[in-house]
Amino acid sequence: MEPGQIAKFKQQLLAQRADLLTQLATLRGGNISRVEASAAHFGNREPDSRAQVETERELEFALDTRESAELEVVDTALHRIDAGDYGICTDCGIDIPIARLQAAPETPLCVNCQTKLESLHQT
Ligand SMILES: [Zn+2]
Repeated sequence: MEPGQIAKFKQQLLAQRADLLTQLATLRGGNISRVEASAAHFGNREPDSRAQVETERELEFALDTRESAELEVVDTALHRIDAGDYGICTDCGIDIPIARLQAAPETPLCVNCQTKLESLHQT
C-alpha cells in the first residue's frame, strides 16, 4: 500500500478514536445524572425503584462495553499501521482491498474471513 494511502487511513482512525473517546467520556460522565434522574423519578415507588436503577446501570454498562470494544479495534488498527502490517487480513494474510478499508479502516479481516466469522457467530 502507498505510504500516502496509509497516512489517510491513519488520520481516519485517529478521528474515529477521538470520537469514541468523546462518546465514552459522555457515557461515563452521564452515568450519575441518569441514575439519579431515574431514582428521583421512581423514588416514590419502592421497591421497584431499585430494580429500575439497576436496569439503567446495566444499560449504561452495555453501551460502555460496546464503545470500549470499538475503541480497542481502532487502537489495534493503529498499532498495525505502526508495525507495518496494516491492510493485511489477520486471518488468511491476503491484502484487504482498499475499497473495504475506505469503508471501514479499522477492519482487520478481508470480506471472506469477516463473512466466515459472522456465520460462526450466528450458529
Ligand atoms: Zn482473510
